[in-house]
Amino acid sequence: HAKNCGKNNAKLYSSSLTMQIMSHVKLEVGLRKALGNDELYLLYQPQFDVHSTEIVGVEALVRWRHPERGVISPTEFIPLAEETGLIVPIGEWVLRTACSQARNWQRQTRRSVRMAVNLSAKQFKDENLSQIVLSALHETGLDPRFLELELTEGTLMDDAKATLATLEQLRRIGVYLSIDDFGTGYSSMNYLKRFDVRALKIDRSFICGLPQDSENAAITRAIIAMAHGLKMVVVAEGVETGEQLVLLQQYGCDLVQGYHLGHPVPGDSIAQKLVGVVQAAG
Ligand code: C2E
Ligand code: MG
Ligand code: MG
Ligand code: MG
Repeated sequence: HAKNCGKNNAKLYSSSLTMQIMSHVKLEVGLRKALGNDELYLLYQPQFDVHSTEIVGVEALVRWRHPERGVISPTEFIPLAEETGLIVPIGEWVLRTACSQARNWQRQTRRSVRMAVNLSAKQFKDENLSQIVLSALHETGLDPRFLELELTEGTLMDDAKATLATLEQLRRIGVYLSIDDFGTGYSSMNYLKRFDVRALKIDRSFICGLPQDSENAAITRAIIAMAHGLKMVVVAEGVETGEQLVLLQQYGCDLVQGYHLGHPVPGDSIAQKLVGVVQAAG
């Protein structure tokens, strides 16, 4: 790009690059203070059983309420948190807050739903991970089977030996493991056999074109068939229409998550939904 632009443009380009770096540094300085200043918070997106449309779980999704810029998306600050290592303390806070929220819903509503937490590669590689997970569970009193950790294909493919050891520690703790954004990363089917992972989350880029996109339909059906063959649960992400929901029911998908069924919302809204289901049931 810079090559075609000639000297003046190259200069322009480099000054805008400087600005990019400056705003990047500014964001990093802000992110370092965000945790201590209570600027991070979690929203929770419900996951439903595809047939009963009952809530069986929620996914915790972090947000940053920046004092000047307003709410910043995790797609913007999680990569920065990973680069700087801030993801470790932020991730620990997310884990503890999510476990505590799940436990509070149990107390308030007498219902237990699984709490899914996203784990980035850096957190997975942290040698204290299993200790952090254990203490979050102990401090909040949440049963490990109600904690789901979402990993990505990239995280699992990095270093087979270390990965297996960490997965084994997590399996012993008794948490529920799933692979997020499945189908978009580098992965080898061989890994699915060796890793004791319970669920695959089909990336929303495959769900997005349904039902018209016949290639996405083929991929979605193939992932569901493969997962079931391996006795895994399948979750479809990014379900935005009723048509997609019906199709996923026909395909035999297990769980669904997406704007059609529920946006990410604050914890209190989930509690209301859980109580609502109990009342409706009798
Ligand atoms: P993800 O884990 O794949 O989460 C799903 C993303 O899809 C969320 O975006 C969610 O709001 C969005 N989504 C849900 N349903 C729909 C839908 O029907 N249509 C569309 N277009 N989007 C939908 P969000 O909250 O912006 O998070 C983006 C990513 O940031 C997450 O992708 C995850 O990779 C990362 N992330 C979020 N919270 C955390 C966290 O606490 N820790 C780490 N390490 N990563 C996180
Ligand atoms: Mg996720
Ligand atoms: Mg995902
Ligand atoms: Mg993801």
